[in-house]
Amino acid sequence: MSKKLCLFLLFCTAGICLYATRLTVLSTTDLHGNVTGNHRGMLRVAYLIEQQKKLYPADSLLLIDCGDTTQGTFSSMVFQGELMIKCLNYLKYDVWAIGNHDFDYGLAVIKKRMREFSGVSLAANLDGPYLAEVHASWKMFTKNGIKVAVIGLTQPEMSKTVLIADRVFETITFGAALKRIMPGIRAARPDVIILAQHQGMYAKGFSIYKFAAQYPEIDLVLGGHTHLDNPGQKIGPHTWYLQTRARACGLGKNVIDYDRKQNKIIKINSEIIPVTVNTPIDKKLLEQIRPALARAKKLAEQKIATIIFKNTRNLDSSFPEQKIIGWMMLEQTRADVAVCNAYPSGYKLAGTVPVTLKRLYYWSSYNNTICTLTLDKAAYQKVMAEQKSLLKKNYRTIITYARKDLFSSKNKIIVAFSSYALAGAGGKFPFLRRVAKNKKFMLKNTGIIIRDGLARYLKGKTFIVSNNADGEISIEQKLRKKVSH
Ligand SMILES: [Zn+2]
Repeated sequence: MSKKLCLFLLFCTAGICLYATRLTVLSTTDLHGNVTGNHRGMLRVAYLIEQQKKLYPADSLLLIDCGDTTQGTFSSMVFQGELMIKCLNYLKYDVWAIGNHDFDYGLAVIKKRMREFSGVSLAANLDGPYLAEVHASWKMFTKNGIKVAVIGLTQPEMSKTVLIADRVFETITFGAALKRIMPGIRAARPDVIILAQHQGMYAKGFSIYKFAAQYPEIDLVLGGHTHLDNPGQKIGPHTWYLQTRARACGLGKNVIDYDRKQNKIIKINSEIIPVTVNTPIDKKLLEQIRPALARAKKLAEQKIATIIFKNTRNLDSSFPEQKIIGWMMLEQTRADVAVCNAYPSGYKLAGTVPVTLKRLYYWSSYNNTICTLTLDKAAYQKVMAEQKSLLKKNYRTIITYARKDLFSSKNKIIVAFSSYALAGAGGKFPFLRRVAKNKKFMLKNTGIIIRDGLARYLKGKTFIVSNNADGEISIEQKLRKKVSH
């Protein structure tokens, strides 16, 4: 039997028409800096990707990451995300749709990472001059003779998590971005449209079902941001949705069969290939990044200070941790009061604890900076009322005072916050966000990353942190020398 006839019979048995062309889209999202790990990590995801590459020729394969790629682990932080971009480049990713946490290392760094990425960085809803030259809104790929337009959208509420100077960049809504780019995409006549979005199925004022109804020509949506994995489902008459597992715990796979005679997709089959403890690691990738991993490990173990915790066994560790951060912020800024926020960590701190750089990373794993506002009594009271209103949602405010009688001798006080809080903490503090934008309250950003400030504050010393009988947490440098603020 001829090879052609054989293929014909094979297609007929599979129920696929002769004109079907196959396109395979592999996707990851929210990798969050995970390179190593027993049940996760890029080293294992890389193995899965290389396996798929053996099954599908490069000309029929697209590799897309949906963002929050570079932040989330100590080793990724050490290299400000460069290590993760190296992994993406090694695997020849075609598209990187930027996530909100990819901005955590600052604008100069994200610009560098976007430049280093060998594929195309996409964010159609990112406006402003600073990043314009390093990203695009969408890109047309030709795969197996099929024209595939890939659109990228980043998290639209970015300005509520990142303290951005005016006009450097802004994010616009998905709707506004698509309204702008769809005419150009339609004119380019793609066969397939894929949307890589750093957002899940639902967000405030957003539903993927409504969105798919508005733009029915989108064939496949790859989601992210919410860490809610979804192996694939229909979200519109012709639209499919998939969201891969977060933290490099899986690889999304979408197999699209396209009928070139009828010019339409016949079907999309999708799955999430899980990363398990039995998934081998990609040895070639490991060889390339081994020196970087070794350097990160050495830094992680570097001891900064010793802290002796007394009577803290019943406290969630977030209290003493944020208290220490508060004392550090007071020292760095000479503020009158420091306001810190945290969700409970679920851990306890007790006894003698060696403070390593890695431990400091867990205390403050985002690259937020120390900022101050100068507030009058009325503004301060309103800010604090907003902070307290969040308590019911388990989000704690931990206040550290340089002196208790704040307004007794002055009518204006300096209050230290993290840059994240002043950006509105992802929508939690709209009032504080407005106050920070009001020039009257003289926002100052020290540019000091909280974790770096902590390392400097604690370096080489031994502290005693005690939870006193009156419920107050105090800090004292050992050798009975009080730390002055
Ligand atoms: Zn995100």
